[in-house]
Amino acid sequence: GTTRPQVSIVIVGHVDHGKSTLVGRLLHETGSLPDGKLEMLQAVSARRGMPFEWSFLLDALQTERDQGITIDTTQIRFRTNAREVVLIDAPGHAEFLRNMITGASQADGAVLIIDALEGVRDQTRRHGYLLHLLGVKQVAVVVNKMDRVDFGQARFDEIKAEISAHLEGLGVKPVAVIPISARDGDGVAELTSRIGWYRGPTVVEALDGLEPAKPLSSLPLRLPVQAIYKFDDRRIVAGRVEAGELRTGDEIVIMPAGKIAKIKTVEGWPQTPVTTPQGAGRSVGITLDRELFIERGDVIAHVGREPQAARRLHARIFWLHDQPLSKGDSILVRLGTREARGSVVAIEKAVDPGSLSNEENRAIARNHVGEIEIALTQPVAVDPYTENARTGRLVIEVQGRIAGGGLVLTVDAGKRAQP
Ligand code: GDP
Repeated sequence: GTTRPQVSIVIVGHVDHGKSTLVGRLLHETGSLPDGKLEMLQAVSARRGMPFEWSFLLDALQTERDQGITIDTTQIRFRTNAREVVLIDAPGHAEFLRNMITGASQADGAVLIIDALEGVRDQTRRHGYLLHLLGVKQVAVVVNKMDRVDFGQARFDEIKAEISAHLEGLGVKPVAVIPISARDGDGVAELTSRIGWYRGPTVVEALDGLEPAKPLSSLPLRLPVQAIYKFDDRRIVAGRVEAGELRTGDEIVIMPAGKIAKIKTVEGWPQTPVTTPQGAGRSVGITLDRELFIERGDVIAHVGREPQAARRLHARIFWLHDQPLSKGDSILVRLGTREARGSVVAIEKAVDPGSLSNEENRAIARNHVGEIEIALTQPVAVDPYTENARTGRLVIEVQGRIAGGGLVLTVDAGKRAQP
């Protein structure tokens, strides 16, 4: 068949508002379920005298994965007309948060689900805030369980106004706000007469309209150095290309030191030099045309398109640790392959993402977010998030464990003298 651009999405919202049901329904409506699966589960439910739940589908698929029956899927995928949609983590797994914070996965878009009867809850607002925190700009809001409010437009409009105001206050304009019944199917792949008053896309159409991420290979080269190996008298610099492309002969600069060299060879495996460009996602080993000091944590870039060497970072973070983060705290910051010591010199904002209230004491509590300024003991090579969503992330460790993470907003060469 034709290949469609891939988009990664997360489905978020308050527990029980219908995330699993929507996913089951989407898999069904887009013809993505294995043959006979739905009928089999419906028959099992009938035999046990219990109502069929769409979430059983996810449980069944999950069980098969755990037992190794379905080989491919650690991820749930389905196809719409124009997109191959990949779900980052099944709903209900808190892991997506950790994965997104640490940069292991990046969502291009999100579906935020709200129960029409219950309305916007703290957890709904918190999830909205997290999408903002993680830089997810394309958010489709679905107002689910419209069957519980007699498909009333007034209730829908009320929720739409409330959530739109919340998201827009965070700089996120929803791509659509859609009334649905995930259980019955209204609004998911079809606009039914029960929501005849609604003018807008279905959920499937909204997903069709999501912009896929710019291919990382089209960005400036970023090769964070993982290790240096010595073979005979050759020094091989190894790492994973996180953005851009490199090839033999490229003039490169090693940041943050700013030393310049040429790529002499790109090593293949086993031992054959590679001449084709190696793009984002490839693990490579390179040799340089001269001996320079280089170490794990350095970033190799093309001359003139290098990341900044920064001593100060302004970051928006999500905090996971029991002990709140306060001004003056010593932290270990991980940026790509670099580990750098530093301290929190200012907490500019500490926010409870549920209520959006600012904390008076300016400490960032567990599950809260904030904006902080970090002073590092050494310069590091770093991009702001807006320039590179992959390298513009940081993870904060406390006592060897991930304590928080987020996005690099701005960087500053940080001349030691203060104005
Ligand atoms: P999750 O925790 O967000 O994944 O929520 P679930 O998908 O497990 O749904 C929670 C409950 O809401 C289940 O009992 C569903 O059957 C029910 N539910 C989900 N969607 C709808 C809907 O459109 N209408 C009604 N009436 N119930 C729904």
